[in-house]
Amino acid sequence: MTVQSSPTTFADRHIGARRQADIDTMLKTVGYDTVDGLVDVAVPDSIRQAKPLALKDALSEVEVLAELRKLAGKNKTAVQMIGQGYYDTVTPAVIRRNILEAPAWYTAYTPYQPEISQGRLEALLNFQTMVQDLVGLPIANASLLDEATAVAEAVLMMRRANKNKEARDGKTVLDADVMPQTIAVVKGRAEALGFEVEVADLSQGLPEGVINGIVLQQPGVSGRVFNHAGVIAAAKERGALVTVAADLLALTLITPPGEQGADIAVGSTQRFGVPLFFGGPHAAYMAVAKGLERSMPGRLVGVSKDDAGVPAYRLALQTREQHIRREKATSNICTAQALLAIVSSFYAVYHGPDGLKAIAERVHHHARTLATTLKAAGRELVTETFFDTVTVSVPGKAAKVIAAAEARGINLRHIDEDTIGVSADETTTADVLSSIAVAFGAGPVVDAKGFDLPESVLRTSEFMQHPVFNTHRSETQLLRYIRKLSDRDLALDRTMIPLGSCTMKLNATAEMEAISWPEFASIHPFAPESQTVGWRELISGLENDLAEITGYDQVSLQPNAGSQGELAGLLAIRGYHLANGDAQRNVCLIPASAHGTNAASAVLAGMKVVVVATAADGSIDHTDLYAKIEANRDALSAIMITYPSTHGVYDADVTEICDAVHAAGGQVYVDGANLNALVGLAQPGKFGGDVSHLNLHKTFCIPHGGGGPGVGPVAAKAHLAPFMPGDANKAAHEDGHGVAISASNFGSAGVLPISWAYVKLMGAEGLTEATKSALLAANYVAARLNEYFPVLYTGEGGLVAHECILDLRELTGKTGVTAEDVAKRLIDYGFHAPTLAFPVAGTLMVEPTESEDLAEIDRFIDAMITIRQEIDQVANGDFSVENSPLRNAPHTAAAVVSSDWKREYPREQAVFPVHHLKQDKYFPPVGRIDGAGGDRNLICSCPPLSEFEN
Ligand SMILES: *Cc1c(COP(=O)(O)O)cnc(C)c1O
Repeated sequence: MTVQSSPTTFADRHIGARRQADIDTMLKTVGYDTVDGLVDVAVPDSIRQAKPLALKDALSEVEVLAELRKLAGKNKTAVQMIGQGYYDTVTPAVIRRNILEAPAWYTAYTPYQPEISQGRLEALLNFQTMVQDLVGLPIANASLLDEATAVAEAVLMMRRANKNKEARDGKTVLDADVMPQTIAVVKGRAEALGFEVEVADLSQGLPEGVINGIVLQQPGVSGRVFNHAGVIAAAKERGALVTVAADLLALTLITPPGEQGADIAVGSTQRFGVPLFFGGPHAAYMAVAKGLERSMPGRLVGVSKDDAGVPAYRLALQTREQHIRREKATSNICTAQALLAIVSSFYAVYHGPDGLKAIAERVHHHARTLATTLKAAGRELVTETFFDTVTVSVPGKAAKVIAAAEARGINLRHIDEDTIGVSADETTTADVLSSIAVAFGAGPVVDAKGFDLPESVLRTSEFMQHPVFNTHRSETQLLRYIRKLSDRDLALDRTMIPLGSCTMKLNATAEMEAISWPEFASIHPFAPESQTVGWRELISGLENDLAEITGYDQVSLQPNAGSQGELAGLLAIRGYHLANGDAQRNVCLIPASAHGTNAASAVLAGMKVVVVATAADGSIDHTDLYAKIEANRDALSAIMITYPSTHGVYDADVTEICDAVHAAGGQVYVDGANLNALVGLAQPGKFGGDVSHLNLHKTFCIPHGGGGPGVGPVAAKAHLAPFMPGDANKAAHEDGHGVAISASNFGSAGVLPISWAYVKLMGAEGLTEATKSALLAANYVAARLNEYFPVLYTGEGGLVAHECILDLRELTGKTGVTAEDVAKRLIDYGFHAPTLAFPVAGTLMVEPTESEDLAEIDRFIDAMITIRQEIDQVANGDFSVENSPLRNAPHTAAAVVSSDWKREYPREQAVFPVHHLKQDKYFPPVGRIDGAGGDRNLICSCPPLSEFEN
């Protein structure tokens, strides 16, 4: 490892422990003279890559931003009126700067530790409440990945939840006016699971046959709004369930689906203040009728109480999480779109119900004015009842009109040679309407007076009456509300987040800069290719760099989370077997220790999960593996392995395992979420993998955003390339591609500049050094903590990879202090807990990453050692476990200043167990939260404020 004398390169700032003296201290503790010496022992020779990565030399921050400016300059912004589920919007500056671009929000982790997540949980509860009110259904989740996949989730949910014997196994019927990308994604999912999907014009009634469920779109992609009550009633009559994909802005004016009997509502919240981002990330929502909440996918925020009876938020019904349910999970969604959901919820807080309604009325008025103008010029409309989208008939002239509009800086939707769509939005102006009129060859704009939606579709109910949507009108108030919430939370801007498997590393500010530049952020996913040259250059550049890093031949950036990358990879394997005439190959071997999404994704890919046991040393049990390969020889489709394993160890025999699976005709899926232990040292595409997903929101610096956005690229060898994700806007299996996995071709494109910049800033050497530093840091933690909390699994030379599992089970047996107690006690020390109970119950998994400096790592280690002393105090009988600072953790300010302090330990020990906390103390806003109690009495919307004033 070379060390610069002055900190001038980006790598010197990305890597925390960079001073030679610090490196030497860590090496000495681990027992090695050099970092390379340690790495050579830890990483098996059998997988080491022969050559350094062939990437361009590292650039400085200034140079990278200049390169990004150049790429941005190759994109062309336009007035985006293509619609089709994506609309221009204004992100209020106070929200952009203080949430979207604020590290307190974007560097937060998924709120599994609710005591340090009350701020973002409140924002997500606001999101749920906003959705529930607008769609008229009682329970909404806190985001899904995009509208098309949300509809796919709804369709699968209808298939699970429909208990009507006659209807249960029937087909799924999609209205012909559903977004085309949604139809493509749903058909792709249905193909793997083997159920029938029919597309029909449901405004004309239901088709013949047995129907499991129907999907309507309000307004339809054509802009059409119609009263759904009749067709919904008819569907229910026949035992079908009903999903409506609905636009929230339209629902401020139009009857909500819940009031018309829909069971499920889904949709995108993009136009609530989230930039177009060339297709994503955007939060989708899902809301359900009562009785369906326990089979709803995604995360759900609920209200419970803490140990002092104070109302507190936490994720509800976590038993639905894939880690516990695995192949019986309701969905594979793990990372969702928390940050974007939070932005949308604040957009609603900013505007309030009246503001949203005013925007909707203005949008509708613009659309009407356009319709009136075009009709006055003799043009015919495809539908007369619309909200924001006017579909115009222009026989044979679409290309000409579109070109004329483009020449005026406006993008319209080219439906076919005879039809054009124009969607108005919040940013539409009278000037824009005049230019469109000219492009159509129409006369001057004719202002449409009055209001024109028919009474039969008008909304009469109120919405968003909760004070949170009606108090923060001044910017001062809103700014303080935003700050108040973020102050309740611990994110990476305050403490290391040592989460095994989740790689919470630096999200550098320079990497983040470009994402809100209009030349990246204001591009519609279906804009003409001539306007997206810079975007596509950036995307293919990143794809090439990732192919080089992983050793695969092709990369697709379409999947918008790791789970979606898994599904895309497994569907590629499925496509490959089918093309080879091996339709019977449907068994997926999955080690017992695998991340829960693996099993859930395999089920979604139509595969049968066979679990492989873990050996005593944490590796895959070979006897069991070979027996299962043999037993399923003809049906073997794939094995999914995580490398290094979820146990944080490099298994030396991985190549053998890959060979055995290949010999039996199976494919090898390498879960690449742990790539932070491999970059520059080993390539899954070279040591036996056929396909992998990566998590750009782990290894490649996209921030976690409190539970999303994510990007889960799928990378594969050439033989699987023809089955990689296809564009939802092109016919499936066209030009050598598989089915679409996301609504837009490049998924969460908007955050790709972050990973692009990271790779350029680090270069081959910097990336490799980061990996080595991550190994050193993890081994340092393991070496120092082993005598206090035994490290459960190690590999060659007693070393771990980039993370280590601390085993609490013996201590728990002796003292009753649980791993959860330790996790909560760490909050009193100002830390976010490590990963709790995954992959082994009763343990904590620690991953320091390369970005933490030695002082911070030592601070964490000291906290853990002090906690161990407290556990010893329980063992010695100084206090009982129930009365210990561990079980009572975390301690709120209210608890320690209370005049009736009756605990058997001093207040100082409660909140200042180590000295430095006296200056930098984080007080959690609530104490330990009762999760189970909250699940029994499920409350998932904003509670009356009075509950909080005790
Ligand atoms: C994080 C993770 C996943 C899932 O990724 P998401 O982006 O959350 O869907 C899958 N496998 C492993 C090993 C992971 O750590």
